[in-house]
Amino acid sequence: MRGTCLCGAVKFEITDTLPNIYQCHCSLCRKSTGAFANAALIVPGNQFQWVSGQGCINSYENESGYRSDFCAKCGSPLPNSLKGKTDYWVPVGLLEDKANLEVAAHLHVGSKASWEVIATGGVHYQDAPDLDCLYQLLRKNLDA
Ligand SMILES: [Zn+2]
Ligand SMILES: [Zn+2]
Repeated sequence: MRGTCLCGAVKFEITDTLPNIYQCHCSLCRKSTGAFANAALIVPGNQFQWVSGQGCINSYENESGYRSDFCAKCGSPLPNSLKGKTDYWVPVGLLEDKANLEVAAHLHVGSKASWEVIATGGVHYQDAPDLDCLYQLLRKNLDA
């Protein structure tokens, strides 16, 4: 599965079947996306590979450790490796084919914007679940 930023400078590739999506409705994700929530998936590092444009990756991190990587040319949010893990966080909107992907979890529902109506599907967490629990939930579609 190929993914690219808006301008196409940054390209990456994910191998194997993709796990489910989660959306985070916290105020930081609202700022970094400009929208009501992000939509992302988490893939093991051995399934993720940069194809081009790594020189275009800019990174921002605030004092709480919230990190946002983005394309220096077009501003698209970009995948980044999770702190202390080998897994990659991947913004779903960058993927070229989103067939069969489902939103399995909504995080920080308690912080959602007043004008947002969250879809009913998936597990709703008032704040953030334990990362390992979330990880398992997102990979449920891969158990077969
Ligand atoms: Zn770009
Ligand atoms: Zn968030």
